[in-house]
Amino acid sequence: MSNEENTREGSAPRSCGVDSGRGSRDNKQLSNYKEISPWHSANHRRAEREVCSFQGKTSGVLSAGVSASNSQPKKQRLLGVQEKRQVRPRTCCSLTLGLSKTGGSRSMLPPPLTAELARIPVHLDGAIKPETILHFGKKRGIHLPADTTDGLLKQITCDKPGCLTTFLQKFDLYMPAIAGDREAIRKIAYEFVEMKAKEGVIYVEVRYCPHLLANCEVDPIPWNQKKGDVTPDDVVNCVNQGLKDGEKDFNIKVKSILCCMRDKPCWSPEILRLCKKYWNDTVVAIDLAGDESIIADCSGHLEAYKEAESSGIHRTVHAGEVGSSQVIKEAVNILKAERIGHGYHVFEDEQLYKQLLEQNVHFELCPWSSYLTGACKTSFKEHPVKRFKNDGANYSLNSDDPLIFRSTINTDYRITQEYMEFTEQEFEKLNINAAKSCFLEEKEKKELVYKLQKAYGMVKSTEF
Ligand SMILES: [Zn+2]
Repeated sequence: MSNEENTREGSAPRSCGVDSGRGSRDNKQLSNYKEISPWHSANHRRAEREVCSFQGKTSGVLSAGVSASNSQPKKQRLLGVQEKRQVRPRTCCSLTLGLSKTGGSRSMLPPPLTAELARIPVHLDGAIKPETILHFGKKRGIHLPADTTDGLLKQITCDKPGCLTTFLQKFDLYMPAIAGDREAIRKIAYEFVEMKAKEGVIYVEVRYCPHLLANCEVDPIPWNQKKGDVTPDDVVNCVNQGLKDGEKDFNIKVKSILCCMRDKPCWSPEILRLCKKYWNDTVVAIDLAGDESIIADCSGHLEAYKEAESSGIHRTVHAGEVGSSQVIKEAVNILKAERIGHGYHVFEDEQLYKQLLEQNVHFELCPWSSYLTGACKTSFKEHPVKRFKNDGANYSLNSDDPLIFRSTINTDYRITQEYMEFTEQEFEKLNINAAKSCFLEEKEKKELVYKLQKAYGMVKSTEF
């Protein structure tokens, strides 16, 4: 991608870069594929019919360089308990806590997908209800591109592959309605928890850059806002309040991750400070997101990550989404990332990939997002996700920016099921992976893993 695509002041320098000029897309067959957000459920059945109407046969052909045999030992290690389990009764989805209680949308989801139970990365500013955007736009007198939910969704969502510029412009359209307003920030955090509970999530880590929701003590002030009085510190406070209220009301566990932005190394010291200040007050980790092609002075990020490591703050990095395997190498070896956001390009360096498998580094994969952002230009049948699966890698499936991609996590589940031969057992395994690689403290993590294993029928006893 070109740098100029990414240098617009005030745009969210997000992770989803794309080289718009490279190659042609060969998964045009998916152009009819549409998934809709949980708050847009009226069209859900129609969308499902569209998905089901595409009967793409899964070829079973492994991606280049993969041999089925080399995946076995790792797989066995990861499966562990699962090996011994009995056939999982369909009812085990009953641990999809919150669904029956909250009257969520489970009934609209196609069987036999396992509902997500533990989710790792979702962007807060990419998971806002359109109604909330409209509400605050109106209340604050901020111009929005439409005044109805449908109209707004048409403008701010992507349903076919685009380029980085298109993707970033979506944030420009609606973020001014939310950023710089304490009530709005609290509300999106609260509603995020509500949405996740309705999807059946029992634990989620939400990530955001505090500076992109602030309008004071941030340079430059994002989204062409006027200077106000909401600092990045205030933002974290408001998000925390919303998340904690949501946790109480919807009975799920939520933690947060604060994102540094690649093109804003000057923000990183403050982000590190906020991670420390709010450590375990929902905040559990630091992230680095944004355009991987930027070769800026990285010392701000490096210092922040060094100190994060020495302070016991967990670390994840968006790397190898569109960037090269070198970015992943730096993330793991220099920034000491414990998890990699996306990481599709790791296969350019087999040695590195082997190292990461050995280190059991967790990959946060987002197939639908990778399709729409152009991060992966292969067909779904040859998508890197398939190789991660076949090699028994430590990975999870995630929705990334569900508002803009008009998706729920089931979009990604369905894609992997339809095109990559994912089975229910694989969904269970990757949920366990997500839980084992989450940033909860050890005791809570064990409880989460146990909860899942119990739900999946992997353990018989009730002791913990
Ligand atoms: Zn992301």
